[in-house]
Amino acid sequence: MFENSQEQRTNLSELGEFGLIDHLTKQLESKQESTIKGIGDDAAVIDFKHKQTLVSTDFLVEGVHFDLAYMPLKHLGYKAVMVNLSDIYAMNGTASQVTVSIAVSNRFPVEALEELYAGIQLAAKMYQVDVVGGDTTSSTSGLIISVTAIGYAEEKEVVYRSGAKANDLLVVTGDLGAAYMGLQILEREKQVFKANPNAQPDLDQYTYLIERQLKPEARKDIPPLLKALDVKPTSMIDISDGLSSEIIHLCKNSKVGANLFEEKIPLDPALISVCEEFELDSTTVALSGGEDYELLFTIDQGDYDKIKGNPNLTVIGHIAEEKEGMHLITRANQKLPLIARGWNSMPKED
Ligand code: ADP
Ligand code: MG
Repeated sequence: MFENSQEQRTNLSELGEFGLIDHLTKQLESKQESTIKGIGDDAAVIDFKHKQTLVSTDFLVEGVHFDLAYMPLKHLGYKAVMVNLSDIYAMNGTASQVTVSIAVSNRFPVEALEELYAGIQLAAKMYQVDVVGGDTTSSTSGLIISVTAIGYAEEKEVVYRSGAKANDLLVVTGDLGAAYMGLQILEREKQVFKANPNAQPDLDQYTYLIERQLKPEARKDIPPLLKALDVKPTSMIDISDGLSSEIIHLCKNSKVGANLFEEKIPLDPALISVCEEFELDSTTVALSGGEDYELLFTIDQGDYDKIKGNPNLTVIGHIAEEKEGMHLITRANQKLPLIARGWNSMPKED
């Protein structure tokens, strides 16, 4: 329904593998000082001088991570880059290069891949990263995209998942749950469209939520913001699977417990009203809905005054001793164990 109308359909076989690579990558220009050699040789060459190198990879598989019925290819390209840059920012680093590998079936015309690359190129431009390589191959069914993000940080600036200490404050950027509800709206519209292809969806009131799903923005602004505030997080992770599963990851890696306060979880008003409409609990959505790509981190209590009142940052709880466990303190002051019900792409085998 939201698919781009493809007027022209050039078969992939008309270009051949090398012609296709050339066609898709000819507009990509390297701009980063650290990129010595980008696309066009057997390997890219990158020079970070005395900084540490950060590398992260993710897969996006059609039918598992995205549905082309409502995901325009340009958005998909953009999102594929975002989800990877988010991991570099979660190390408190600067992202500077990506590689992009795609497996496509000949069900996709060249024009579809042009759309995908338009999104990749836009993301690269907006986030100042160079596309320095990749691989192109065929797939017998769906579309598979794998992006590798490369970045850097000073050794003393790198933040791991493992540094949280008891009494640290638990802080989150932005607001949570919106990407998940955006997906619920798109799924619902897909069903409506199936039943009645002439129905014109009126999605205006859901713009924010749908954008959070289709066009997530990684928090490039946070590492420099923290630096400007003179705060080095003790631990950090990006929120790709849902708040509770990320808190559990941080706690397990740091060998600590945590208390999360329900009333502190930042929610957008649009999320609250859509949760009412869908009869879903907004806290559950924030805890378990994925793909927000916000950052979750811990800071020493002594740094509280430095972040206090910053509209990008919300203190949602604190770290406890490991033996105290991980809990959600509800609005009614009940203490419930935190459980990971984050979205998981691996189907259970039971
Ligand atoms: P090789 O045979 O060494 O794997 P390729 O012919 O696959 O080389 O790729 C040629 C160049 O194009 C390399 O620099 C490679 O990194 C780049 N490249 C290939 N596919 C893509 C793609 N989908 N996106 C960006 N760069 C690509
Ligand atoms: Mg290759």
